[in-house]
Amino acid sequence: MRSKFLPFSAPTITEDDIAAVAEVLRSGWITTGQKSADFEKKFAEYIGCPAAVVLTSATAGMHVAFNALGIGPGDEVITPSITWVSTVNLAVLAGARPVFVDVDRDTLMASASSIAAVMTPKTKVIIPVHFAGSAVDMDPIMELAKKHGVAVIEDAAHAAGTRYKGNHVGKTGTSIFSFHPIKNMTTGEGGMFCSDDAALVERIRRLKFHGLGVDAFDRQMQGRSPQAEVLEPGYKYNMTDISAVLGLRQLARLEEFNAKRTDLAMLYRRRLAEIDELIPLTDAKYPVRHAWHLFIVRLDTDKAGMSRDDFMMELKARNIGTGLHFRAVHLQKYYLEKMGMRRGMLPNTEWNSDRICSLPLFPNMTGQDVDDVVDAIKEILKK
Ligand SMILES: *Cc1c(COP(=O)(O)O)cnc(C)c1O
Repeated sequence: MRSKFLPFSAPTITEDDIAAVAEVLRSGWITTGQKSADFEKKFAEYIGCPAAVVLTSATAGMHVAFNALGIGPGDEVITPSITWVSTVNLAVLAGARPVFVDVDRDTLMASASSIAAVMTPKTKVIIPVHFAGSAVDMDPIMELAKKHGVAVIEDAAHAAGTRYKGNHVGKTGTSIFSFHPIKNMTTGEGGMFCSDDAALVERIRRLKFHGLGVDAFDRQMQGRSPQAEVLEPGYKYNMTDISAVLGLRQLARLEEFNAKRTDLAMLYRRRLAEIDELIPLTDAKYPVRHAWHLFIVRLDTDKAGMSRDDFMMELKARNIGTGLHFRAVHLQKYYLEKMGMRRGMLPNTEWNSDRICSLPLFPNMTGQDVDDVVDAIKEILKK
């Protein structure tokens, strides 16, 4: 058994990253400034999108996007239930109704046909989730949305570095990335809004900082322009330069991080192929460069004779951390009790919600760590 706990995720932070953050702290300008502006520019260049706006989180990005799109009472927001709770909470907080689309059982992603099945005249926005670092088949979804005049915001929290049909997720359309510490690159907390809709980008830029016509940082003034006026009421979701400098440094190493993740994922795949009780996710049937944000397995609970929760506990007892991405949102207390959701609504989502488990995966893991996880799994399933 491992003597040291293997976490399910860990950020990759070097001494040089720490020195770069310290330099910002010593510089006299620590909130939104040149580093944030540089980070937006470099990220947009990397993705190949015309513009990017940096914010304090992906959730903040979704919040301002909902505001910019005017999402409110009477509107329906389509998204999977197997997602992070933030999107669904925001829909409810805006007074809109979340409508859940079931996902493919083996890719955990929504398709145009499953989305079409839950669309109504009230549908205002579709939010597909690029799951685990793979990519949703966006072309048919964009076609469907265009036909019905519905907005699309891609949840790209798992997809920094993912390519769909040769292009970066985020290159076209509107996407939101997350830089939470477990994501493929981090700024501590942070998010990036990318869009090819110049008018929407302008609104997001304004809404993330009090609705002022200018950013938090005026380059000529070397500070905030004192005569800035409120053009519409906005939020305060601007990223600090302390975080942005970390983002710049992480972005420069993202390809390297993702290459390591990919190697580890392939190693897992080879070693886990011998274990009948684990059901892998399947690859997309269209060209995707996977960013391997997560390595997810599904426990065949019948074959294993144990629940997924017990399986995770057994791994923890062997000093191995795991994650759960995600417990279906519609089965959580508030949504069951207050929103009239029930088990049985979304068969593929529920089947997965009861069986999924994310194994440890982060760039600084070793092949030996993967072997330790696989050995522990074999031991647990043999019992
Ligand atoms: C992490 C995550 C988010 C939220 O990102 P934050 O930056 O923490 O707000 C949204 N959606 C998905 C699918 C995520 O995994």
